[in-house]
Amino acid sequence: MSVYSDLKNILANNNSFILTTHVNPDGDAIGSVMAMYLILKKLDKQVRVINYSPTPYFLSFLDPENIIELFNPERHSAPIRDADVFIAIDFNTPSRLSRMGEEFSKRAGINVCIDHHQNPQPVFQHLFVDTSLSATGHILYNFIEDTKIVEIDYDIAVNLYTAIMTDTGSFRFERTTPEVHHIAAKLIEIGVSPVKVFAAVYDQNTPGKLSLLSEALASIRLYGENNEVGVMVVTAGSLNRYGIDEADTEGFVNFIMSLASVRIGVKFIELAKGCKVSLRSKGKIPVNELAAKYGGGGHINAAGIRLRENKYTDVFEQVIQDAIEMIKMNGVK
Ligand code: 5GP
Ligand code: MN
Repeated sequence: MSVYSDLKNILANNNSFILTTHVNPDGDAIGSVMAMYLILKKLDKQVRVINYSPTPYFLSFLDPENIIELFNPERHSAPIRDADVFIAIDFNTPSRLSRMGEEFSKRAGINVCIDHHQNPQPVFQHLFVDTSLSATGHILYNFIEDTKIVEIDYDIAVNLYTAIMTDTGSFRFERTTPEVHHIAAKLIEIGVSPVKVFAAVYDQNTPGKLSLLSEALASIRLYGENNEVGVMVVTAGSLNRYGIDEADTEGFVNFIMSLASVRIGVKFIELAKGCKVSLRSKGKIPVNELAAKYGGGGHINAAGIRLRENKYTDVFEQVIQDAIEMIKMNGVK
């Protein structure tokens, strides 16, 4: 029996569902939540998608009918509390829901987590987690294939393809297995256009964003004995000047990783309140362990930290020191 038959039963045996994903949603988050929405609609279920953060403009093509609702405590407290099933998608801890986590904690119903991050919090009765997989969209693809719960139509396919494309860095990150390419091929056979999806997500830059990127690139400094740690700073002033949202700087960190000497990349974003740190690594360097020290998390090669009460300058030196230490401990070249 498939590991996913329990999930199939939960969907079949309940009527009302709330789906959500993490703050600052990426392509896997929106693609997976929309794919699950479409599955439940096909099953004639009552389903609402309520997210804490707005959908970034470069992912809005996945939600042409504006299904996704922006969290509002007055409007959503009761439905979140009362739904038969709450499904957390592409995250595994209520802290990734910001204020919406409080509403989640009032629930008495069934709580499900579908995710591919390490260390799920023990607040979900049902976990469908596989940290070896490239994306939550990959888990959902396997779920549909194993259980045949619905047919994958074009709309589901485009969401799953976007989820997998974005979380694999366009099919180049560590977990890009032959299976990932087989799945992509099947989704393309259903009608997904790789050209259109890539352009919809990535060819959406504005001149202001490129100006911000040029400032971010100019800020890059290298640390460590052999320049193994690359550090970028995006200031609140720059974000304001160009009217760019924090979520829209997601790909900037990859430019640090394109430096041959770099093993760990760190991007600090200064926010109006607090800061965000993105960590990336090459090979077997577990930056999620570094993130965990500061209350963050993620994957071995991609992790993040959100500090609500600290300026980035409070942790800047220490994070760099920790990264240099991590390089030494892992002895990688
Ligand atoms: P990014 O740097 O792109 O925001 O995030 C990289 C990875 O780290 C993602 O898989 C994301 O889920 C995870 N991540 C980012 N920020 C946080 C955080 O504040 N807490 C936890 N637990 N994970 C995070
Ligand atoms: Mn993901």
